[in-house]
Amino acid sequence: MQSMLFHYIIFHYTLIKEKVDIIICGGGCSSMLLLFNLQRYPTFESLKIVVIEKELQHQQKTWCFWHKGNHPLQHLITSSWQNIHFATANFNTTQAIDPYTYSSIKGEDFYHYFLNEFIPQFSNITIIRDEVLSIEKTTTHLSKVICKNHDYISSTVYSSIIEKEFHEAPIFLWQHFKGWHIKTAENIFDQNTMTIMDFSNCLPNSFDFVYILPYSNNEALIEVTAFSTEIWNDSVYFKQLNQYISNKLNGAKYQIESMEEGKIPMAYYNHTALGKAGEILIGSAAGKIKASSGYGFEKMQIDAERLASNYFANKSSKNLGPKRFKFYDKLLLKIILENPAEAVSIFGKLFKKTPIPMILKFLYEETTLYEEASIFKKLPAIPFLKQIFK
Ligand SMILES: Cc1cc2nc3c(=O)[nH]c(=O)nc-3n(C[C@H](O)[C@H](O)[C@H](O)COP(=O)(O)OP(=O)(O)OC[C@H]3O[C@@H](n4cnc5c(N)ncnc54)[C@H](O)[C@@H]3O)c2cc1C
Repeated sequence: MQSMLFHYIIFHYTLIKEKVDIIICGGGCSSMLLLFNLQRYPTFESLKIVVIEKELQHQQKTWCFWHKGNHPLQHLITSSWQNIHFATANFNTTQAIDPYTYSSIKGEDFYHYFLNEFIPQFSNITIIRDEVLSIEKTTTHLSKVICKNHDYISSTVYSSIIEKEFHEAPIFLWQHFKGWHIKTAENIFDQNTMTIMDFSNCLPNSFDFVYILPYSNNEALIEVTAFSTEIWNDSVYFKQLNQYISNKLNGAKYQIESMEEGKIPMAYYNHTALGKAGEILIGSAAGKIKASSGYGFEKMQIDAERLASNYFANKSSKNLGPKRFKFYDKLLLKIILENPAEAVSIFGKLFKKTPIPMILKFLYEETTLYEEASIFKKLPAIPFLKQIFK
């Protein structure tokens, strides 16, 4: 025991004195994706990398996203869907989403793979259990990461730690959800079709919908999701879930296998590519969670590819993507905030008039200006103009 302690102290003392090649602040999703992409380069193993994570346990979540062809993390995908269903009270559509596939990765599988299989292969990566307190620029080329227990120095620092100011963003909503993984007595689900948004049971003047991931014909995750400033009481989600199951799933008999809940911040915030000390921001801290949808996984994976390529090419990493998409997000968030019922109607028109694969392309900010114009011209102009000229 004493000798272990001695090694621990020596190891950390060495790290304080020794400059490492890369420091990654936070050991969550975007950090693992960054490591995964850095590892694809031949000189990766010559780099000394430390990842500083404050928590012992990661928050349990399931990541869903859409992708073209095989995904780089295909081996972690446990379920995929080829069709998407969307509904409002008076309209519904089910469409094939080719060239995309909608897939999900369970958080427990993701972290199990990275912490027990991927990272242990590389002796050049060290996970440090510590809390980052601040990051300082010490010279033009070096930054110091100050933690509760030790300080670390490197010329390259990536950080997934969200700035405090983010939660004071002028437009701030939560995407909050609660749901059940259920098993039904009858085969009632189509396991090739996921429901992205079903507003048919939406509360008055509220932006809430049901989201369904069928894992088999008689098993599904069914969640009530709302976009609002306040998180609901449990009883509201459960009332909505029960009502949906009795009205839309014909009162199917079911048993609850597990419960899932979460909240994702959706904010209009002026994200920057670099932090105050010049550290390269990644993940949510770099604005990779889309403000109007809450999806971030695939954007973070694509960004990690870009950051890894820039690192080995010795290029700067200041890229936040086209600014116009932030403007669209801002307008939509403001409409959801001020007039949720109008926002539901806009989503209804969007899915009625634009093919779902094009909406998915737009949500990934990969559409051209021409494609965006053809989406917008089919939407009511007044709610957007009201927000622009306010
Ligand atoms: C409940 C939930 C469900 C989501 N579902 C989806 C989804 O289905 N699809 C999708 O595309 N996106 C989803 N997202 C959005 C996004 O993909 C995730 O939030 C993703 O985890 C963001 O990655 P990240 O690395 O930015 O943050 P995190 O994964 O949260 O990692 C940040 C890490 O930094 C650590 N940390 C924070 N402060 C410090 C500090 N001072 N010192 C040291 N460590 C620190 C934290 O403990 C954490 O481990 C979801 C988000 C949430 C919250």
